[in-house]
Amino acid sequence: MSFDKKCGDCSACCVLPEVPELKKPCNVSCSYLLGVSGGGCSIYESRPTSCREFRCQWLVNESAQDDMRPDRCGVMFEKLKGEQVVLALFLPESRCDKDLPKIREVINAILRNNFAVVSSGGVSNAPLIYLPSGVTKEMVRKSMWRFWHRFVETHDGCSVIHN
Ligand code: SF4
Ligand code: SF4
Repeated sequence: MSFDKKCGDCSACCVLPEVPELKKPCNVSCSYLLGVSGGGCSIYESRPTSCREFRCQWLVNESAQDDMRPDRCGVMFEKLKGEQVVLALFLPESRCDKDLPKIREVINAILRNNFAVVSSGGVSNAPLIYLPSGVTKEMVRKSMWRFWHRFVETHDGCSVIHN
C-alpha cells in the first residue's frame, strides 16, 4: 500500500458496508461515527475486527487518483475476499459531485481484470451487475451468496450489463 494514501476525512466505510459485530446494516451511519465527515470513530481503540481489517479499493490501489477517494467521488469500491467480484457502493445521500464517466472508467478497468462489478445506489435504487466476458449472473450470485439478498432480492429487479 502506498504510504501516501490516507483515509483523511473519509468515513464511507462507516456508512456503506454492514458491520456484523455491531449489527450495523448497510447504508446506515455507524452509531459510533462522530459527525458526518472527518469526525472519526468514537471507539477507535476497541473497534471491531471487520473495521480494523477493512480496506477499500481506493486505499489499496496505488494508482487510484485522489479525487476517487470515496468521500470525494461518492462511490466506494470493495473487493469481496476470495471472489472475482467488486462491489461499487454509492453513498446514500449526495455529499459530493459524482463524476459518473470517471466512475465508469474505473468499472471498465475492473472488468478488464476479469472481475464482475455489482453496484448499489443505496436502498432505493436497483442494483446494476456488470459482467466481464465469460462470466454469468449466476456465477456472480454464487460468489456473493451472503450479500445477494441485500443487493438484488430486496429490489424489484436488477439490470445486467455485459462488457
Ligand atoms: S472508505 Fe476507504 S478511504 Fe474511506 S475511510 Fe474507508 S478505507 Fe478509508
Ligand atoms: S465502529 Fe468505528 S470504525 Fe467501525 S464502522 Fe463504527 S465508526 Fe466506523
